[in-house]
Amino acid sequence: MLKLRGVGRAYPSGDGEVEVLKGVDLDIGRGEFVAIVGQSGSGKSTLMNILGCLDRPSSGSYEVNGVEISMLEPDDLSRLRREHFGFIFQRYHLLPELNAIGNVEIPAIYAGLDASHRRERAVSLLERLGLGDRTTHRPGQLSGGQQQRVSIARALMNGADVILADEPTGALDSQSGADVLAELKELHRSGKTIILVTHDTDIAATAERIIEIRDGLIISDSANLVDGGQGGPSEEAQTSAGPSGRAGSQMNWFRSRIDRAGEALRMAVRSMLARKVRALLTMLGIIIGIASVVCVVALGTGSQQKVLANISSLGTNTLEIFPGKDFGDMRSGKITTLVVGDADQLARQPYVSAVTPTVSTSATLRHGNVEATGQISGVGEGYFVAKGLTLQEGRFFDGSSVTSRQPDGVIDENTRKSLFADHIGSVIGQVILADNVPVRVVGVVAKQQGFGDSQNLSVYLPYTTVQTRLLGSTSLRSITVRVSDQVDMSLAEQAVTDFLTRRHGTKDFFILNTDDIRKTITSTTQTLALLISAIAVIALIVGGIGVMNIMLVTVSERISEIGVRMAVGARQGDILQQFLIEAVLVCLIGGILGIGVALAFGYAFSLLSTDFKLVYSTQSMAAAFAVSSLIGVVFGYLPARNAARLDPVAALSGTR
Ligand code: ADP
Ligand code: MG
Repeated sequence: MLKLRGVGRAYPSGDGEVEVLKGVDLDIGRGEFVAIVGQSGSGKSTLMNILGCLDRPSSGSYEVNGVEISMLEPDDLSRLRREHFGFIFQRYHLLPELNAIGNVEIPAIYAGLDASHRRERAVSLLERLGLGDRTTHRPGQLSGGQQQRVSIARALMNGADVILADEPTGALDSQSGADVLAELKELHRSGKTIILVTHDTDIAATAERIIEIRDGLIISDSANLVDGGQGGPSEEAQTSAGPSGRAGSQMNWFRSRIDRAGEALRMAVRSMLARKVRALLTMLGIIIGIASVVCVVALGTGSQQKVLANISSLGTNTLEIFPGKDFGDMRSGKITTLVVGDADQLARQPYVSAVTPTVSTSATLRHGNVEATGQISGVGEGYFVAKGLTLQEGRFFDGSSVTSRQPDGVIDENTRKSLFADHIGSVIGQVILADNVPVRVVGVVAKQQGFGDSQNLSVYLPYTTVQTRLLGSTSLRSITVRVSDQVDMSLAEQAVTDFLTRRHGTKDFFILNTDDIRKTITSTTQTLALLISAIAVIALIVGGIGVMNIMLVTVSERISEIGVRMAVGARQGDILQQFLIEAVLVCLIGGILGIGVALAFGYAFSLLSTDFKLVYSTQSMAAAFAVSSLIGVVFGYLPARNAARLDPVAALSGTR
């Protein structure tokens, strides 16, 4: 079954090479019980590793069931290990985080046996080895002999037909050693091929065939007649040899993938829980990065919404027409061509839904012996709605007040505070003087959320009243045009410009389009958010590098675990997946914590500031999720690939 011809194995050493095996010829048949003896350093373990396909010969040929090993890919070798070989090591090589069942199950996970069968088989194997009451103990809670029996159960898990035991009793007291040996003999009787490495001649004496090796060469190969005769495999045992273990190969490929991914996830969680503080520190970069991205986006959205709300107080779809060339035009006050007639004509345009002319002047306001300077705005009755002003008490003046030039005044809070400081109760019906023109207060408007708090006193009167009683002029300060809902703002602006230019013969006015302001502010905040997000992305990259760093450390710490997994048949892909999942998990949890931190920040913020909120979007959270997993994949890949490419023998011995 196993056929070696001229097998040599050399290790690089210094400038040259040391030849550990120097041309070994060996045939081992099915059902044999072979002991390999020799002094320490003679090359027994090296030969054993080659026999078990953990290592490849550097020269010569090795065939397993007629298949030449040197032709095979690493994953083919791991399949051979999984299906044909069971390893028992001197120092057990159990995984400390897993209990007995968990350790025994590992080979079957990689073989793709489903969870319930796996467990059942692991428990029955442990029971058969006398560990029925220790199934949930961890290696640290078991004696050496018990641990070695767990490792025998693991070797048997996939129904291997060749058991390779490298000094299995070397670390055990004589009684436990004898038990383990008895177990191996029992396995031999049930039809397994047993290859046992030992330097103890008494132990070798229990085998059927003894091969002695010295300095990398076989110096004797003899049948052991003392014990050999009775040891042959029985008929009944032959047939019972591990059919259930092979069930995995029949299992559907997809389910086995999912199962292995699930196991990898479980392992990742376990190893993270074993090193909580380190995991948290690793995540820190991701947490900060994600939290800052989410916060920045929320802050940006919040401030944008606030500013837009302020703008909508200017009117949602309104155009304001002012005389002059631009805001800074000095002569603006002298241009008197913007008149009520313009407003009347504009009101007839099909794209206009409402028009309010405004005039303004400043005046001395007086009530009793209190005097203050205030801003008088002459407006139409539709002005208040268009501007989104709200009443604190009283009412707005209506159309009839405008047409009949009533002195009906709506005052703002500032005006009430300064003129009616000592007044108790409602101010509605009170009369104030504006430059000696009596004004009856009909309403008080609430303070507007705007760009900063204005200290100005404002009084709103019908524009007709202001024109006739205060100004004596028919020119307007501005015309506010509300555009019909379905009309495009820039088209409307163009139409108004054309219309007024034709009426005036020249363009002696300018138009403020609230839609334009909105767009400008939206794009400004977006640019700002982009900028800060770029900084946050840098934070995330730094976090990712931290993850990569720790994963590299983790891989080198768990090198012997990786070796064990490879020895029991893990593919390179399985190892890659395990460490990749771990990296992604770290980043994902970091991402979730980051979102949590961002939400907590938003909550704290809302306690401090009442009128300004962080607005979280589900998209930004989903993106944070996606980004953190991506970081895990990108920065976890290199460490995971390093792990997957480890040489099994080197990994097992804990070197690199
Ligand atoms: P045994 O198991 O018989 O005690 P080994 O097969 O473990 O011996 O080792 C045989 C020789 O090969 C030793 O001299 C050892 O130093 C050498 N050797 C084993 N592995 C390596 C390696 N990875 N690199 C270099 N030398 C090695
Ligand atoms: Mg050895």
